[in-house]
Amino acid sequence: MTTPAISGKKLADLNFTNRLFNTAPFLFVKVTPEPLTNPKILHVNHELLNRLNIDENLITNPSFLRFLNGDLDFEGLFFGASFYSGHQFGHYVPRLGDGRAVTVAEVETDDEKHFELQLKGSGLTPFSRMGDGKAVVRSSIREYLASAHLKALNIPTTEAMAIISGEDKVYREEIENGSMVMRVAESFLRFGHFQYYAHTNQPEELKVLVNFVVDHYFTHFKDHPNSNVLFYQEVVKRTARLFARWQAAGFCHGVLNTDNLSILGLTLDYGPYGFIENFDQDFICNHSDHEGRYSLGNQPGIGMWNLKMLGEALKDLISDEDKERTLNTYPQIFSVEYTRLLLEKCGLYKNFKSDEDFLRGLLNMLVVTKVDYTQFFRSLSTYTSGTPLKNIVVSPELTTWLDQYETRLAVEEISVEDRHNKMLAVNPKFILRNYVAQIAIDDPTVLENMFKVLTNPFEEWSEFEEWAGPAPVRYRNLSVSCSS
Ligand code: AMP
Ligand code: MG
Repeated sequence: MTTPAISGKKLADLNFTNRLFNTAPFLFVKVTPEPLTNPKILHVNHELLNRLNIDENLITNPSFLRFLNGDLDFEGLFFGASFYSGHQFGHYVPRLGDGRAVTVAEVETDDEKHFELQLKGSGLTPFSRMGDGKAVVRSSIREYLASAHLKALNIPTTEAMAIISGEDKVYREEIENGSMVMRVAESFLRFGHFQYYAHTNQPEELKVLVNFVVDHYFTHFKDHPNSNVLFYQEVVKRTARLFARWQAAGFCHGVLNTDNLSILGLTLDYGPYGFIENFDQDFICNHSDHEGRYSLGNQPGIGMWNLKMLGEALKDLISDEDKERTLNTYPQIFSVEYTRLLLEKCGLYKNFKSDEDFLRGLLNMLVVTKVDYTQFFRSLSTYTSGTPLKNIVVSPELTTWLDQYETRLAVEEISVEDRHNKMLAVNPKFILRNYVAQIAIDDPTVLENMFKVLTNPFEEWSEFEEWAGPAPVRYRNLSVSCSS
């Protein structure tokens, strides 16, 4: 047998830039990860490995597993947990920080993109407070699948390179096996990082972070004299658009504390998230969210509230007037994007004033008829006049709405075939329903197929039909809480 040409060296050959660490070393405390016992790889995201220029042959190399397990150290890696604070369920908590995540390094790829690699579940850090710094297989699978799935749905998100599990016992409501995910993102900076330096009165450090984001991510106004205001504008814009995408997909994040909001407008920190089955603004995916603060319908307003908290953290950098004016652009940016996305889901590409009423009528019809949200739009994607919607129960409300839809369609200038093709590319057949994730949790050997389906959710995949519909009876009432 020939030895694989690729060794641990190959990882060491990556271009470690560690820009954030070099620019803002104050943000991190060095930590030593706690590797899992007898780790094994549950799944690897090959497409992401390719994007990172990591050789796929490496997967079978023991050093790769050690790397994923935080058990390999070589030049270029730094293991750091960062300081942040944040508003949790509306209350300011002055010190949170990476309690179970460790930034391993930042790499630059051959096409000059930069990615931060972070281990989640790698043990205690100075920020672990009462926690154990660990992650369990259940929550890691949920994060691993969801991040790849949201990316496939064109929703900005952090990603995950691999998931491993170990034999370590971790104590939650019951004893579970320990696990780690290697997460990947352009940046894991959160609103809470900025809040921490503002609330602890460290203006220099705050400015370093703002400048870092502008210099490396918001480069189109890098040298602008008003870069602080433009920074806030950009975050408001990205956040409003992200929230619009969540609403259109029927995605509920579950824990929209300011420490879980990405400064780049990415979906971050997958916990008790959920996708709606029937359309319901009161849908609460987090079992611990008794008041429904983070219900589906409350999400857009929470986005704005969180941005207001970020604005307050920037008070020494931006005038009250600029802050107020910027924040007030949020509802408009959100609603333009949400309207566009809903119209696109309906195969409507023009936009009239009357569309607001039309879409309100659509959402009301979905509430009353309780049809499955995802199946409805998938079925609408092959709708032709005069024929019933496939797999959707006929009701008077649906019939009335379809009449209005016919009238509205008549104004569009697109062929039926083109419309169907465009709609099939934005209305997924598969979404990561809780029970679907649970199937993989109960039997991780399905991960390979499930990953394939969820990262190509617009394909038909007739052999995986059983994952396409609403939860079967035995999986109803699954509850998901913050405990992960
Ligand atoms: P999250 O609910 O994931 O947004 O976490 C909120 C805060 O609690 C963050 O500071 C996390 O790092 C910390 N945290 C959550 N779970 C754990 C855990 N098992 N061990 C240590 N810290 C944790
Ligand atoms: Mg978090």
